[in-house]
Parts: sequence; structure tokens; C-alpha cells
Amino acid sequence: MSTLEQKALEYHRAGGAGKIATAVTKSVATQDDLALAYSPGVAVPCVEIQRDPALAYEYTAKGNLVAVITNGTAVLGLGNIGALAGKPVMEGKVVLFKKFAGIDSFDIEIDETDPDKLVEIIASLHPTFGGINLEDIKAPECFYIERKLRERLSIPVFHDDQHGTAIVVGSGLLNAVEMTGRDIAEIKIVCSGAGAAAIACLELILSLGARRENIFVCDSKGVLTTARELDGEKKAWARDTVATRLSEVIEGADVFLGLSGPGLLSQADVKKMGKQPIIFALANPEPELRPELVREVAPDAIIATGRSDYPNQINNALCFPYLFRAALDSGATTINQEMKIACVTALAGMARSDARFGKDYVVPGLLDPRLLSGVTPKIAQAAFRSGVARKDLDVEEYAARLVKL
Ligand code: NAP
Ligand code: MG
Repeated sequence: MSTLEQKALEYHRAGGAGKIATAVTKSVATQDDLALAYSPGVAVPCVEIQRDPALAYEYTAKGNLVAVITNGTAVLGLGNIGALAGKPVMEGKVVLFKKFAGIDSFDIEIDETDPDKLVEIIASLHPTFGGINLEDIKAPECFYIERKLRERLSIPVFHDDQHGTAIVVGSGLLNAVEMTGRDIAEIKIVCSGAGAAAIACLELILSLGARRENIFVCDSKGVLTTARELDGEKKAWARDTVATRLSEVIEGADVFLGLSGPGLLSQADVKKMGKQPIIFALANPEPELRPELVREVAPDAIIATGRSDYPNQINNALCFPYLFRAALDSGATTINQEMKIACVTALAGMARSDARFGKDYVVPGLLDPRLLSGVTPKIAQAAFRSGVARKDLDVEEYAARLVKL
């Protein structure tokens, strides 16, 4: 076992198993306190909430509580390892919600793979939470599950592997396109992967101004073409072309977007791309092509990966804590397209306004302390302006409040 592997196991085992626990937020020192925290006093807020359900946001933890829910079918790059084995990842997500945005959450691992049953189970949990973060549920089921839950529930439901990735990719791409003097409407994009992350990224990239006719998508069987039998989300990306392989469609491409697997892009492919190519090789933990190998053949390329040991780390933690913080604080019933775009723009702008802005700095770093107060208010504002939030928060005042969180 490597040192990192040993350290990881020790980290999870030592000082109380796992990474999370619950905390009590009120005084429970005296008999009187107990009479308020529990019976008989606790009955009073119960009756009030029965009378007006919105009061749950005042008298319970609901308003700052997000569920991290998985069935363990697509955990990290580990695949379908099952609900229980996915628990360390979900606990990790809870840690990130708390650390980056002060949001309380806990993980729920559900031993169910039937999409309709899963929808029923998750929908029935909604009273507890102010929001639901779906995590590591495999494609194509994840698209259906999220859509059904969003239709049914009036709290935000967000599949982070899809939209969190898309938002961060979108912001990095906007900057890379601008930096290389390109026009997003004209760029040719080749995407390796047609799974949860890829499809969501491509849809968001379209809404940022890219054109479908300039995009080619490959899955494990090659290019998505009209000659293939495709269903679900892949169908919309089928192209009428005789090309069947990535190595063919990559000719003259401006952007390679990799959300597939290790080593799937070659140096020969990179050589066929346009000048100063934009290469987002995001497969984790091993990218489609290592940055040093890209550099050997395209020294001026703009390269992003999912890894923390290279510049331009594309990681969902750059957005999901702030999206949920904004949704909870503004009383948003959903996380809509306007909120996602506001997040893309805010992240891109934050990187652009930094002295480090350049080909090795197209997105902010994960630990940038400006993120919470810089990004969240803009998302909250978009929520209100698009009509899904109750509260019109003053951006300046809200940002000042977040700085103190
Ligand atoms: P997914 O839903 O399982 O999708 C994987 C996709 O890759 C599928 O469309 C699959 O094709 C395709 N694929 C597999 N082998 C291929 C090959 N030889 N050539 C071309 N395509 C191939 O997984 P996901 O959640 O979208 O994640 C995909 C990858 O992106 C993973 O490595 C993940 O770690 C990474 N990722 C990174 C970030 C980040 O922020 N850095 C975020 C999300 C995901 P079929 O459809 O034919 O099976
Ligand atoms: Mg995930």
C-alpha cells in the first residue's frame, strides 16, 4: 500500500470513525432547557408548522440542511461499487458543504437501483431538507431521476456530477476562449465521453453560445453519428458524418473536452488540433492525456484537468457549496439555468480579475477565500430575478454577511 493509501485509511479510522457527527445548537444544560428542546415544549413548534409549513424554516434545521444522496452506482471513477462503499465519498461531500459554505448536511446511501423506486424514496425524504444534492448516480438513469424529482419537489434538487461539472467547465472554457481570441460561436469542440458529466457540460456550453453543429461527441463505441442506434440524451448529439473515430473528428478542433477515461487522447490527436488548443482532460484520477505530454506537442495549449497537482483544477467544489448557499438563503425552490449561468459568470470573472489570470489560471483555486462572498450573492440575485426565490437579498449586504460566516 502506498503512503497516501495508508494515510487515507488512518484519516478515516482515527479519532472517531468516519468524517462527520451531529452537533446540538441550543442550550440543553437544565431541566427547563430539556422541557423546551423536547416534550412538552417541542409540541408548540410542531403545531405551528402543521398550521404553516413555511415555519419549518424558522423552527427546525431544514433551512440550512442539504441531503447528499447516492445509490452508489457511479462513485468517483470507481464505478458501481454499491451504496455502502460510496459512503466515504458522501461523508466527504458533507465536509465540503460545511467547510466552504457553512451548510449542514448528511449523507443518505440508498440500496436501490430501480429509477422509479429511487425517485419515490428520495421524494418521500423531502420534508427533512432544504435541498437535495444527488451524487454519483450512474448515467443514463441519473437524467431521469433528477428530472422526475425536480418536477415533483419544491426544494432545489441538483445532480452535482452533471451540473457542478458543467458550471466549472463552462467558466474555464469562457476564459480560455477569450484568452485565445476565439469566438465561442465559432469554436469546434470534440468531446470524449457522453455520460452524465459530458452531456450536462455540452448543454451548458450551448447556452453559453457554442453551436451544436460545431460539436462532435464520442462514446466508448466512437463518434455519435446518425448511422448509429442511439437513445436518450445521446441522440441529440448524433452527427451526419462518415467519421467514426475521435482521431478523425479532432482535425482542426479548437477544444478537446475529456469526460471519459484515462489515456483516450493521443499526442497525434493534439497535433491535429488548431493553434493554441484548449484541452480539458478531466477524467479522474488519470486524465485523457497528461499535461506534460500535451505540452510536448502543443507548448502553448491551455490545459485543465481534475487534479490538484496540475494548474487549472476543474472541481465541482468550486460551485456546489455556493449554489446551495444562495438557494437556501434566497428561499429558492429550485436551482435553475439563470442561477447556473450566474455562477459560471461569477467564477469566470473572479479568475479574470486576478493578477494570476493566464493560461495556468483560467478558474479560481478551490481554497480561494473570495469564493463564498464573491459568487454566492450573484447566484441569489439571479434566483430572485428569475422568479424562483422569495427573498431579494441586497448583494452588498449579503456579501458582507457571508464574509463573516
Ligand atoms: P459516465 O456517466 O460513466 O460516462 C463516461 C463516458 O465515457 C461514457 O459516455 C462512456 O461511453 C465514455 N467512454 C468510456 N470509454 C470510452 C472510450 N474508450 N472512448 C470514448 N468514450 C468512452 O461518467 P461521468 O460521471 O460522466 O464521468 C466521466 C469521467 O469524467 C470520469 O473519469 C470522471 O472522473 C470525470 N469527471 C471529472 C470531473 C471533474 O470535475 N474533473 C467531473 C465529473 C466527471 P459509453 O456511453 O459508451 O459507456
Ligand atoms: Mg460525484
